[in-house]
Amino acid sequence: MDAEIIAVGSELLTPQNTDTNSLFLTEKLNHLGILVRFKSIVGDSRDDLSLVLRTALSRSQLIILTGGLGPTDDDLTRDAVAELLGRPLHEVPEVRKGIEERYSRLGRAMPENNLRQAQVPEGAEWLENRNGTAPGIWIKDRGAILVLLPGPPRELEPMFNAACVPRLARMASDAPIRTRIYKVVGLPESEVDSLIAPLYRPYTNPATTILAASGSIEVHLRARAATEAEAEALLAELGDKIELALGDHVYSTKGESLEEVVGMYLVMRQKTVAVAESCTGGLLAERLTRVPGSSSYFLGGAVCYTNEMKTRWVGVSAELIQTHGAVSKPVAQALAEGVRARAGASIGVGITGIAGPTGGTDTKPVGLVIIGLADERGTQVREFHFPGTRDRVRLWASQMALEMIRRRIRD
Ligand code: ATP
Repeated sequence: MDAEIIAVGSELLTPQNTDTNSLFLTEKLNHLGILVRFKSIVGDSRDDLSLVLRTALSRSQLIILTGGLGPTDDDLTRDAVAELLGRPLHEVPEVRKGIEERYSRLGRAMPENNLRQAQVPEGAEWLENRNGTAPGIWIKDRGAILVLLPGPPRELEPMFNAACVPRLARMASDAPIRTRIYKVVGLPESEVDSLIAPLYRPYTNPATTILAASGSIEVHLRARAATEAEAEALLAELGDKIELALGDHVYSTKGESLEEVVGMYLVMRQKTVAVAESCTGGLLAERLTRVPGSSSYFLGGAVCYTNEMKTRWVGVSAELIQTHGAVSKPVAQALAEGVRARAGASIGVGITGIAGPTGGTDTKPVGLVIIGLADERGTQVREFHFPGTRDRVRLWASQMALEMIRRRIRD
């Protein structure tokens, strides 16, 4: 059985909002051995939704719609589906009671339009919403299944897990899909591909995809087989070869971020870290502290953007800056050593660079970033030239600083 997902909501067609529900649903469906063949996003327009729905009904056996189940006039998923399938809407007393009780528990009067949410197309089942008022709807129609789920992820996710996963598991073919993700740092995408293409090309199952984001590359393998064990064996057969070819550039096989991996190493080795950042403006500290429990190894950071602050906060000598310039190896070294000493950390990291788009010169172009790492064994300084926009340069810089920490404590 293949699936199709339709995310409904005009806000999802703006640059501010992303359809994350379909990512959640795809992962869950894949686990059940159900492939997603199509995804669409459609605004709050009845005609557009009907158009997309008609196409979906012509090609998919399982159609999951998210959003547009609310009480307001622009919430029209329920109506559009009911109309297209020719199933009149009927109020379900149990659902109505639930909505009324929810309002009285909150001590609020229920606006009349909320009762729209108690309407369910004829012959459909409704799915309890423990975190909101709009129930989900499950409809079997001419060999297809349509599932209508509320838009807010905190309502959709528990509902899908509780009501849909067990139903779908009973129906899904016993052909589970298993995935493996290798996260790679420190190699350009082209090099990753030339290293592993000869390995994955002979295979169609698992399917291999390479995704590149700033500073990190992900290699995804997806295997489909009659049993979970066979799918895992297929993954292992190709995956182990890929892992060997990429060597220690692979920092994660379980989905962890680089900052999480670095955090695990720091805990394991009982090391602490402090950072002095110029061009990254605190991004490295932000990434390190994203990880729960980072207080056990992250001591603190200084954003020393001006030359004066580099001197005042971290003790970089003014003469050194004058002689070599703020973006130089001696200054990166002094930032790392200075913050390490002042914080009393095992590891000090200093970052200085030119994020652009202006401020570059012939000898020090935009994208030049110099990172120092000081620990009890001495100080290491590396120079990088990152391509792209200001955001990308800063992200790359934080990524390579984390990578330097990872390598230093792992060795
Ligand atoms: P409600 O009862 O809250 O009105 P609804 O089913 O009508 O539920 P929408 O009004 O379509 O849902 O969306 C409510 C909110 O849910 C949106 O503002 C958005 O924050 C979130 N949301 C909707 N669709 C998605 C999606 N596909 N991915 C992530 N978030 C979504």
